[in-house]
Amino acid sequence: MEADADLLVIGAGPAGLTAAIYGRRAGLETTVLEKFVPGGQAALTDAIENYPGFTEPVQGLALMQAMRQQAEGFGAAFQTAEVLGLEPSPPDGPHAVHLKNGRLAGRAVIIASGARHRRLGIPGEDQLWGKGISCCAQCDGMFYRGKRVVVIGGGDTAIKESIFLTRFAEAITVVHRRDRLRATQALQDKLFALGDKVQVAWNTVVEEILGEEGVTGVRVRNVQTGAEQTLDCDGVFIYVGFRPNTEAFREAVETDEKGYIVTDEAMATSVGGVFAAGDCRRKVLRQIVTACADGATAAFAAEQYLEARRTVGAEADDADAGPRG
Ligand code: NAP
Repeated sequence: MEADADLLVIGAGPAGLTAAIYGRRAGLETTVLEKFVPGGQAALTDAIENYPGFTEPVQGLALMQAMRQQAEGFGAAFQTAEVLGLEPSPPDGPHAVHLKNGRLAGRAVIIASGARHRRLGIPGEDQLWGKGISCCAQCDGMFYRGKRVVVIGGGDTAIKESIFLTRFAEAITVVHRRDRLRATQALQDKLFALGDKVQVAWNTVVEEILGEEGVTGVRVRNVQTGAEQTLDCDGVFIYVGFRPNTEAFREAVETDEKGYIVTDEAMATSVGGVFAAGDCRRKVLRQIVTACADGATAAFAAEQYLEARRTVGAEADDADAGPRG
């Protein structure tokens, strides 16, 4: 199989874009495959306050557009394509990436496919998704101007998005299953400084999302008392963690029990020449800055892998040619 590129990068979030920047700067022919639009989840984030180098909050979309322009500036190619599977050819590749419309082969592959929002699996969720249920305050928050919304979850995302929703919504109830938030203290301080506009329903789970053509409320249960009640609302935002976008790769590379790709510290997967970077891999901290670091490391490791193959190939060619002189 002929290779279409030295390096195929699957995913154009911060990990994939950084891998493309580093891949090109190492002289690798690099193609980035993106499903929809570049930037991944980061592009849907409002104000990013913890990406180093910015003293003022930076918009996720602007940051991701800049990363993409930087990758393009170094000569990375971009292709819109949905990846359906990976067929590695260890030890030397090239590795085939199966697309909805065809196939590409890369001498090395970096999987940077990210993660998506988890769902709760409760009644009403599937029926009303997109009709009052969302996981993107950036996209849908403006529809709730002067309205009441429920936010489910107590992590960084839930609290960050609740703060963002106060721009529009009249009243926000954060429904959290425990008696303390998981979100970082800085975000909690911001949330509680907002006063009465935001209420927290502690030790509470949502059992059902109510409504026919649109959301009218949620049925909740207090996990300590067992008491049930209905909270009237016009919209529900669900932020209960993420699931890795690794379904297409689970037969090819090792994943953990949650589906995250297992790598070593050089981002190498269980298959030689296939690397993983960003939120799709098993790791301790999923942030833009750690995704970028993964992408840089993966591209560096891919270049080392390809260089080692080139050296072995050149020695084999020399041996085939017989003694010189
Ligand atoms: P997360 O940290 O995994 O939090 C998920 C939240 O959902 C937790 O509060 C969890 O409750 C709750 N939850 C999970 N399953 C539930 C269920 N079945 N029913 C009800 N509640 C449920 O996810 P995240 O907030 O999306 O954050 C993901 C990663 O991105 C984290 O590493 C986070 O730090 C990072 N992040 C960072 C920022 C930032 O500004 N720095 C912003 C967004 C995200 P428990 O607390 O009880 O487990």
